[in-house]
Amino acid sequence: MNRRDFLKSLFYLSSLSLIPSTIEAKTQSQILAGIFIWADLHTGQIFSSSPQINSNGIFPVSRIGSIMKLISTATLLEENLISPQKTYECRGIIKFQGKEYKCTKAHGKVSLIQALGHSCNVFFAQASQSISPTLFLDYCSRFGFDRSLYSQLSPPDPLGRGSLRKFFSLDQLSNVPNQGIIDKSKLDKMQSNFTDFVLGLHTDSAVNLLHIIQLTSLIALKGNMPKLFFKYSNSEHSLKPIKLHLSESTWIGLQNGMKLACLHGTARKLDPENQFKIAAKTGTIPLVSKNYFSKSSANNSNQIKEEYFQSLITGYFPYDNPQYVFCLLAPHGTSQETAVPLAHKEIFSHKW
Ligand SMILES: [Zn+2]
Repeated sequence: MNRRDFLKSLFYLSSLSLIPSTIEAKTQSQILAGIFIWADLHTGQIFSSSPQINSNGIFPVSRIGSIMKLISTATLLEENLISPQKTYECRGIIKFQGKEYKCTKAHGKVSLIQALGHSCNVFFAQASQSISPTLFLDYCSRFGFDRSLYSQLSPPDPLGRGSLRKFFSLDQLSNVPNQGIIDKSKLDKMQSNFTDFVLGLHTDSAVNLLHIIQLTSLIALKGNMPKLFFKYSNSEHSLKPIKLHLSESTWIGLQNGMKLACLHGTARKLDPENQFKIAAKTGTIPLVSKNYFSKSSANNSNQIKEEYFQSLITGYFPYDNPQYVFCLLAPHGTSQETAVPLAHKEIFSHKW
């Protein structure tokens, strides 16, 4: 697969073979700029920078990466599973359940909110052990992840990714809106890699970008997501409002973690002068390409995994009176390399 096909496959665009070549050229530059989606919380309207989404109304699916830590934090705080003062020492890496979880650097002693702002994997790998998979999926459901949104139907899945939606029985859900019914057989699958799942690293922890917009809207407005809608061609998608009751301290904790990310943490280069008063959360998703044999090695059994990244950032602003929520999906690079700078460019070039 060449680079162009690879980039297209990330967004399930490979099946759109009837796109005229001029539009396809635009698609290419659009993909390299990332896909930026934002919503005006006052009017409820969702906008997209992607001509494809604006014409067909199909939103891309991505693994959620560390944005999942927002749900993990909500669960830990709301269920009193951890004291907000409790700290773990992060030395940059931890071996846990036979796997290594790494951070971008050693974060030292961190509390839950600091761990959220710095996206500390070492902290969350340990803290998440007090959460049961059923409880965690319940929180995913409460934040709207069980909703069937506007993804491409039966998308080709070139990278073998699944979807978080698979964990919920959607047939039953159609009769019981907004109530998550967890498919027990799928739960077993998640249970075996629960730490990966809570960190958003599991291959099945994929969601539609609209799920992320819902999640961030709920945090921005402390559980009162208004009706959101997206206009495309001559149609309109509608996202029903969500009301989520969590304690005030849980909402404040989530908001403080996202503010910290912008002030000192993973999103500190998004708005260094704090002009827009943004609260945000980043996510980097490692994508391991198919294994191939090392040509330099005499031993052909020496397989090498080539690692790619794609990344996400979501946030809202201004944090003292939230009016906008946004999400950017960058097709390549870590959040520091691409998602944060691309979101910076989008936010600073837009007339809000
Ligand atoms: Zn750490």
